[in-house]
Amino acid sequence: MRRKLAAGNWKMNGTQASLAELAAMQTAVTDAVDVLICPPATLVATAAAQSGDIAIGGQDCHANVSGAHTGDISADMLKDAGAGYVLTGHSERRTDHSESDADVAAKSKAVWDAGLIAVVCIGETLEERESGETLRVIGRQLAESIPDGASAANTVVAYEPVWAIGTGKVPTPELIAEVHDFMRAELTKRFGAEIANGTRLLYGGSVKASNAVEIFATSNVDGALVGGASLKAADFNPIIEALS
Ligand code: PGA
Repeated sequence: MRRKLAAGNWKMNGTQASLAELAAMQTAVTDAVDVLICPPATLVATAAAQSGDIAIGGQDCHANVSGAHTGDISADMLKDAGAGYVLTGHSERRTDHSESDADVAAKSKAVWDAGLIAVVCIGETLEERESGETLRVIGRQLAESIPDGASAANTVVAYEPVWAIGTGKVPTPELIAEVHDFMRAELTKRFGAEIANGTRLLYGGSVKASNAVEIFATSNVDGALVGGASLKAADFNPIIEALS
């Protein structure tokens, strides 16, 4: 069955000194759960060299393998640095860098081509939720951000309502279940039951130790993508433990 995944996204936070937190997180890892930390690109190689059983991921990549793209990083480079995963389509990338679903699909394909796992992020804005558009938006993002060729081995989907990210606001378990059940059904329609049932679906947005147990008990939630509470082992380890 699906292995639980506790994923941390450090965003634009962290220096060499932060690797002490990564070391402290290793004490919480058990056989029962996969743990992933996505540090800033500057730390990927060093983190991967010392992360033990914790997988290391990139936060973004370019759709191309190499070339004249100043400031960008390819999935192959992340793999070379020791990454096993890459986040694609995080809402901050979609907003700050105007990434479209098509861009996210191209990046996800690049991640697969490098032999890495894409954590494809989707989620509605507050305006979309309030106007009753949530499932329509999620359906579109799922269809258009994940290219053909997805498998349970190469893809993880993270549902992150934009209004829940960094705000302390979390949807009720019923609302999370509604979206996660819908995502499982949509993936089943497109890729078949075997792939859909094997694909991990993460919830993200203001996950912390105090709400992790309830969120992880929710239908079709296979783990979390955690921002702020993944920076410190004292905050992240209880989330890992809640999944174990
Ligand atoms: P947060 O961020 O846990 O700080 O809300 C989640 C994310 O953006 O992945």
